[in-house]
Amino acid sequence: MTRHFLIFGPPAAGKGTQAGALKDHLGVPHVSTGDMFRAHLSGDTELGKVVKDILASGQLVPDTITNQMVAERLAEADTAEGALLDGFPRNVIQAAWLDGYLAGHRTKLSGVVVLRVPDEELRSRLVGRAEKENRSDDADPAVVQRRIDTYKEQSEPCIAYYKAQGMVDVHEVDGVGSIEEVEARIRASVGG
Ligand code: ADP
Repeated sequence: MTRHFLIFGPPAAGKGTQAGALKDHLGVPHVSTGDMFRAHLSGDTELGKVVKDILASGQLVPDTITNQMVAERLAEADTAEGALLDGFPRNVIQAAWLDGYLAGHRTKLSGVVVLRVPDEELRSRLVGRAEKENRSDDADPAVVQRRIDTYKEQSEPCIAYYKAQGMVDVHEVDGVGSIEEVEARIRASVGG
C-alpha cells in the first residue's frame, strides 16, 4: 500500500517547515507545488514564463497546468511508494482530480494534516518572511491578503470535501507555537 499524505494550511502556516520533518517521519518525499513553480521561475523555463505573473499576483495557477505538473512528478521513481504533497490540492477541482489520479494508480490518500493559524498571526508572519527571504509575493500587503482570501475561498473547501467524503483521516492541528511544539502535535495526531 502506498502512502500519500497532504499537508494543508494557509500561506505562512508553516507547511513547508513542518513538511520537512513530517516527510522524514513518514518516509516519503516532499512534493511542494510552490517550490516547483519557484524552481521554474528561477530556471526561467517555459512554464516559469507562463506562471510568473500569476504567482506575483497571489492567484492560483490554472488547474490543468498544475495537475499536469503534479502528474509528472508523481510518475517519477522516488514517489512510487508515496509522497507528502504540500500546496496541492488548492481547490476542490484539484482535490477531485487527485482522487481520480490515485484511484487510477490503485491507491488513495492515507492522511490529511491541516495546520490552523489565525489570520492576524499569518499576516505578521508573512511580513517577517518577506523581509527575511525576499519573496516578492510576500512583500505587498494586498497580495498577502489576496493569498489569504484565495485560501479561504478556494482551498479551505477541500477540508470539507475530505470530511464529507469520509475516506481519509483529517488531522487538524494547532499551528501556533514553536516549530518543535507544532511538530510534536502533528506526530501525535498522525501516529507512527
Ligand atoms: P504558501 O506556502 O505561501 O501558501 P506556496 O509556496 O505553496 O505558497 O505557493 C506559491 C504560489 O504558487 C501560490 O500563491 C500560487 O500562485 C502557486 N501555486 C502553488 N500551488 C498551487 C496549486 N496547487 N494550484 C495553483 N497554484 C498553485
